[in-house]
Amino acid sequence: MSTTTTTTGPHILAYSYPASSHIIPLLDLTRQLLTRGLTVTVLVTPNSLTLLQPLLSIHLSSLHPLVLPAAQPQPSWNSRIEKDRAIRDLHYPLLINWFHSHPSPPVAIVSDFFLGWTHHLAKELGIPRVVFSPSGAFALSVLYSLWRDVPKIDDDINFPKIPHSPIFPWRQITAHYTNGKEGEPNWEFSRSCILDDIASWGLIFNSFAELERVYVDHLRTELGHDRVWAVGPLLPLEDDVAGFNNRGGSSSVPCDQVMTWLDARPDNSIVYVCFGSRTSLNTKQIEVLASALEISGVQFILCVRNGSDEGRVDVDRGEIPDGFEDRVEGKGFVIKGWAPQVAILKHRAVGAFLTHCGWNSVLEGVTAGKVMLTWPMGSDQYTNAKLLVDQLGVGIRVAEDTENIPESIEMARLLVESVSVTRPERVRVKELSGAALGAIKGGSSDKDLDGFVKLLPRELNL
Ligand code: UDP
Repeated sequence: MSTTTTTTGPHILAYSYPASSHIIPLLDLTRQLLTRGLTVTVLVTPNSLTLLQPLLSIHLSSLHPLVLPAAQPQPSWNSRIEKDRAIRDLHYPLLINWFHSHPSPPVAIVSDFFLGWTHHLAKELGIPRVVFSPSGAFALSVLYSLWRDVPKIDDDINFPKIPHSPIFPWRQITAHYTNGKEGEPNWEFSRSCILDDIASWGLIFNSFAELERVYVDHLRTELGHDRVWAVGPLLPLEDDVAGFNNRGGSSSVPCDQVMTWLDARPDNSIVYVCFGSRTSLNTKQIEVLASALEISGVQFILCVRNGSDEGRVDVDRGEIPDGFEDRVEGKGFVIKGWAPQVAILKHRAVGAFLTHCGWNSVLEGVTAGKVMLTWPMGSDQYTNAKLLVDQLGVGIRVAEDTENIPESIEMARLLVESVSVTRPERVRVKELSGAALGAIKGGSSDKDLDGFVKLLPRELNL
């Protein structure tokens, strides 16, 4: 891999879905492409322009922001899909105009897997579209199979074409599928998005072969061996302190304060608890969790937010019980808002991570070598939890969504177990951590990304 930045490489357009957990890895990928000499235009909406600033300051001549307006939320929207359709209607014509008026337009589009319509945009422009998946290969295999094969409603959904023939209960299948039906505009839009992803020229995803080899191979068999690249884990550079501390948002507490607190604790003694960028716990969930943390006596960092849940007002958002913070003083560090997650996970004092199993969190926890305590709550999180617990043996199942929550006393037992030195998960996750770092330091992911860059057309032959 080349580490010098030149501006002579092909020009590509990187287009993320407008959500933190999609923008974060796409910007990390962008940095990798810039260091390989590509010129990259990154499409951002005004709100996310700040996330680009750190990269812009380093790659002034080869990184260009393309700021397009965000789709304005409408009261009539009751699912993400309406927003996605509005994004398409707004951005498609703007991108066509931008492309045709550009003196040196992109030779390829790398766009998020929620933006399936960019396949048609790329076709109209006569350039390849590469899908960027912030999800892993197992989750993507399930998603592709679901929307392509359209299984009928049943108690369980079986995926016999996917390695290990996974089965999921109906309630764990994406609501975009289960709540709609064929012929409905939103359902059809979701399906066409995935079918367009499958039909696209290539697929880059944020994972690494050593983590999910059978699923990487499965996707290669389905989509083409020379068109699928596993390039993860996408992370800030080792020496990028600001990148670690403020990844995807500004930390709500000074990072130094959290690090000082952790510095005073023994190795592997802390459980870090965080449920990603969007999920807020309901009253029952937070009460059980707070009580478990208290009973267990383990030391912890708890990150809670009164999250967005896509702006919904009908959501039960639980509050930390009164007096909790006083009772756990010295043992627990509570962060209300945005935590410097990657920096926390990297710290030697953190031994386990209680997570909702969002894919970025999974990769960050595994790469840091932490025992994963799983509490999936939606979308691909069930698949990710299954991978961690049943297949990789690095996770301990704690709870599932709002229904399957153990008693506090049982959750407390699992928290204590997770920081015990004898858990086999710790040994396995350390091995995987080594494999993750190997993959991005000259290993499989580095090679995949080099291979992708080599295949890019050097110029546009319209
Ligand atoms: N994140 C963070 N601080 C927080 C919450 C989240 O830095 O307080 C980051 C986290 O490191 C990860 C991303 O936000 O990179 C969350 O992505 P994930 O896929 O885990 O979950 P999602 O937000 O999509 O549910």
